[in-house]
Amino acid sequence: MSALLEPVNDVASKARALDARLRLASPQKILKTAIDLYGDKLALVSSFGAESAVLLHMAAQIDPSIPVLFLDTGMLFGQTLDYRQKLAAELGLTDVRDLRPRYNDVAVHDPGQDLWKSDTDACCRIRKVLPLDHALEGFDGWVTGRKRFHGGSRLRLKVVEAADGKIKFNPLANWSKAELDAYAAEHKLPAHPLVEFGYPSVGCWPCTKPAESDDVRSGRWAGSEKTECGIHVSRVEAPALDVGGDI
Ligand code: SF4
Repeated sequence: MSALLEPVNDVASKARALDARLRLASPQKILKTAIDLYGDKLALVSSFGAESAVLLHMAAQIDPSIPVLFLDTGMLFGQTLDYRQKLAAELGLTDVRDLRPRYNDVAVHDPGQDLWKSDTDACCRIRKVLPLDHALEGFDGWVTGRKRFHGGSRLRLKVVEAADGKIKFNPLANWSKAELDAYAAEHKLPAHPLVEFGYPSVGCWPCTKPAESDDVRSGRWAGSEKTECGIHVSRVEAPALDVGGDI
């Protein structure tokens, strides 16, 4: 093969091939394939939010020792922290890792714990993006719980994609809200405590309100144009922030 015809980015080629193979597969099949292929080089990233129990339950059925990365931003609802403990114990997950922002980043950029009032992108960057980037350094692939029905940029979500040199698996990309609810009911999964109060999506307390419409994510950063925290935005596209520290 001519050098010009060889894949420019091996990870991107791998992702395209896996997506072609798995795009119509069940979430369990996608997850099992990811675990079989990547073993201890695969992590699952979970917010332990309103819809997280389904993917966590599926993962626990296949390999309860899968590393689960949980972003404890320091701004979460107390109910989420309680739910993270309860759900992990109930599902038998043995390697849930709590990722926290670097002390120096918070001390320098958000000493008043109110950066979210003036610059949500910068706040998400020190409290979510940088801690996750750091934690993912030892992994070649990761699993997310995103779904296409969430709308916005997620409407075009692939089952497998490449991002910043790693493979991302989105086993629930094809699933509807009804399918999630049916799975949760069938397996008697405990709901996040805020769901009954009108929160179909739960993030940090300053940036999450009850849903304002049928749009599941309408309560996230309500009243602003922001729809994503940034962990799913390619670092090539991500806005620069002069954050101290070595990650
Ligand atoms: Fe900060 Fe809000 Fe982002 Fe949480 S969701 S990290 S409080 S801007």
